[in-house]
Amino acid sequence: IDWVEELGWHNAVLGPREPISLDPAAAVLHYAQEIFEGLKAYKLADGTMALFRPEKNAKRFNESARRLAMPALPEDAFVEAVRVLSLADRDWFPEVEGGSLYLRPFMFASEPFLGVRPAKQYKFLVIASPAGNYFKSGAPAVSIWVSRDYTRAAPGGTGAAKCGGNYAASLVPQAEAIERGHDQVVFLDAAEKKWIEELGGMNLFFVFDDGTMITPPLGGTILPGITRDSLLMLAREEGLTVREERYSLEQWRDDATSGKLVETFACGTAAVVTPVGRVAGHDGEFTIGSGGPGQMTSRLREKLVAIQRGTAPDPHDWVMRLD
Ligand code: PMP
Repeated sequence: IDWVEELGWHNAVLGPREPISLDPAAAVLHYAQEIFEGLKAYKLADGTMALFRPEKNAKRFNESARRLAMPALPEDAFVEAVRVLSLADRDWFPEVEGGSLYLRPFMFASEPFLGVRPAKQYKFLVIASPAGNYFKSGAPAVSIWVSRDYTRAAPGGTGAAKCGGNYAASLVPQAEAIERGHDQVVFLDAAEKKWIEELGGMNLFFVFDDGTMITPPLGGTILPGITRDSLLMLAREEGLTVREERYSLEQWRDDATSGKLVETFACGTAAVVTPVGRVAGHDGEFTIGSGGPGQMTSRLREKLVAIQRGTAPDPHDWVMRLD
């Protein structure tokens, strides 16, 4: 779908994936006016294709658009584009257990213009890609590296938006984590380098021995994850006390060492819920619980996956059936 000032959104087409041509002066290539979303089409137990809370992705997309001075896309147009593509690509659906179709809606500034101001032409596209099951039987625990030298988002910056630039800035710290033998990087806040924020592509939860849970609050420097939001609701329904509260690296280490903190998990669309077993940084490392997947992590993961796959009731109408 295209956008120009005079017409707004127009020219919606469904077609085969092919290269697109851009003027070398297209604003996106110079000033990074680009945003995206990530969601999955699932097959329910009865074979129906379904999306999980796509209207939340549509809302977040428009919040990202606002931060990047881009035009809003009506939520129903976003959901319809994702729906139409999922159905058109149903033959690409991977026939492996737990497989899905990963959907990538994105928007960028296509106007050829070299001045620094919001562009007056945009393109919105959705592409799809088959995705296998991240983890067939429960997720293995990952090891994460605390970045001291890099932060992901500063107050007032673009941290809460899903824009390409945030991910470009995460590449070096993520590579550093891998080089040091870890799976993921965890970012601290920019101001004090003290508070835990999130991983490169997942939000974090901390589980304590008294059954309470904490997740860092959304203060503009963390991506408002849709998995995070869903787990907050599910955990509260399970009777857990969940607080959106700042949690420091120091406290994390002390609580893990004393046994007060029993589990930590990361969550996001790609892997749903992933246990964190080990945390390392320039000041040493510590293990969480037994270093393997914890009980609450597995329970919440199973509960969410069951709703997504249509094997458990869906009291909040999170699942949108496509056919
Ligand atoms: N944080 C970041 C930085 C991410 O890229 C993602 C993935 N979109 C998440 C958190 C998790 O968000 P969601 O649950 O909506 O996939």
